[in-house]
Amino acid sequence: MTGTPQVRPEPFDQLRTAPVDGRASTGSAGMSPTSATSAPLIVGIESSCDETGVGIVRGHELLANEVASSVELHVRFGGVVPEVASRAHLEAMVPTLQRACATADIDLSEIDGVAVTAGPGLMGALVVGLASAKALAYALHKPLYGVNHLVGHVAVDLLEHGPLPESCVALLVSGGHTSLLEVRCIADDIVELGSTIDDAAGEAYDKVARVLGLPYPGGPYIDKAATGNPDYVRFPRGLTARKDLERHRFDFSFSGLKTAVARWVEARQRDGLDIPLADVAASFQEAVCDVLSAKAMDACAATGATDLLIGGGVAANGRLRTLLAKRAAECGISLRTPRPNLCTDNGAMIAVLGAEIVAAGGKPSALDIGADSSLPVSTVLL
Ligand code: ADP
Ligand code: MG
Repeated sequence: MTGTPQVRPEPFDQLRTAPVDGRASTGSAGMSPTSATSAPLIVGIESSCDETGVGIVRGHELLANEVASSVELHVRFGGVVPEVASRAHLEAMVPTLQRACATADIDLSEIDGVAVTAGPGLMGALVVGLASAKALAYALHKPLYGVNHLVGHVAVDLLEHGPLPESCVALLVSGGHTSLLEVRCIADDIVELGSTIDDAAGEAYDKVARVLGLPYPGGPYIDKAATGNPDYVRFPRGLTARKDLERHRFDFSFSGLKTAVARWVEARQRDGLDIPLADVAASFQEAVCDVLSAKAMDACAATGATDLLIGGGVAANGRLRTLLAKRAAECGISLRTPRPNLCTDNGAMIAVLGAEIVAAGGKPSALDIGADSSLPVSTVLL
């Protein structure tokens, strides 16, 4: 933040100044005078899928990270039901916010800004968080920052390992997305090098778990079950053949792998044979982690990145972390891995991204922004 004293905007002023370019023209206005001398105190609200998250940070310092998950409501459906998730967000939002304030030992009047996931995600779920954040910003006379959920998964690492180096690649692996990103500036300059052309890595975990008779969400169950031989079955590594690499060097494909596991299991069952769960889970997991880590190393080599950062729910996976650590060490790359509970969806990642945007002088969002269910990762701030 600059030291220039700012006049706090009335919320209606933000709305009135917004229409020209769709964004309030108040710059970093709205920051309290104390924030000029200390890092901004930001509340972050996350509601893109089935976690209602409220995080509070001061700059890169984590003060609170409260998450209310509705996952148990979706288990019997084998996946997230959008309408159920939206209703759960409505019920959880205020109590989660109150818990976060109590944990951080702050009064809401002290905050400098409200960051919120504006996309991508489930539209009905996003709208609950966005409406809550707007109400909070409006009532408190504080600026609003509508930010990108995917970039939040990357930014969360700042809470653990501090500022990012100049050249950094991020491997984003979640239930809905799988991408390799070149992070030039976390606040406003992200380039997508490649992404999945079908299923996301987490989606593959969830679908294969179902085939193996494990509960939803399958990632943590496969992680735990995969104690067997990773070479028991050589499952396909999508988009790694030479002809695929020409067009899809940094892209991923996991739907063929999922089908291969299903076919293998069906064939065993037809023959009346047992399914060796530990071996099949390990073999599937090895195929996913092999491809993810090989392409991540290649992306670092291609961009000259010195650091690789991982984020998203699948970044909590034990084998992925081990294999990446091994290959990164071999390639001389520093690996940044957030602790597992910061890898899955949470409000702290949104708060720290908001704090980073404020520190970089990003303009607050207008109070009339809408949620964008397919917000591209290159749009950090709406
Ligand atoms: P999204 O933002 O797309 O909802 P999250 O970032 O919350 O996704 O991550 C959820 C996904 O992460 C799920 O698909 C889940 O199975 C997967 N996941 C969580 N923990 C692990 C793990 N230990 N190993 C593999 N996958 C995991
Ligand atoms: Mg996520």
